Amino acid sequence: MSDCLFCKIAAGEIPSTCLYEDENVFAFRDINPQAPVHFLVIPKTHIGSVAELNAENSAVVSKCFEVIAKVAEQEGLTGGYRVISNCGADAGQTVHHLHFHVLGGAKMGEKIL
Ligand code: 5GP
Ligand code: ZN
Repeated sequence: MSDCLFCKIAAGEIPSTCLYEDENVFAFRDINPQAPVHFLVIPKTHIGSVAELNAENSAVVSKCFEVIAKVAEQEGLTGGYRVISNCGADAGQTVHHLHFHVLGGAKMGEKIL
């Protein structure tokens, strides 16, 4: 999608601190970290959110999770981490390109689950 922020980041048109990249997946540091380690993992293909996943496009989600495990190890998150995907207005999604937040490096505070 031509005016999507994360499509532009994945294409290298907007700079980011890239932690991992392959043909399908891009991982980069969040610009406004909410934990000592906070990175985002996105599919390179534009999918708006979890709500847009279907049988045709969902294979990339497992690729994203493989990258989450790889980068979490790379970042030294041996004590664990939290993975979050905000979907839609009620969840506070602000960038409408599917992304997985990975937060770690400290004991997590309040839990909602
Ligand atoms: P959401 O609120 O949609 O779940 O998360 C969007 C995330 O993208 C936020 O945590 C925000 O800090 C991050 N973000 C927004 N714009 C940029 C940017 O230009 N670069 C990077 N690296 N992160 C961004
Ligand atoms: Zn996009």
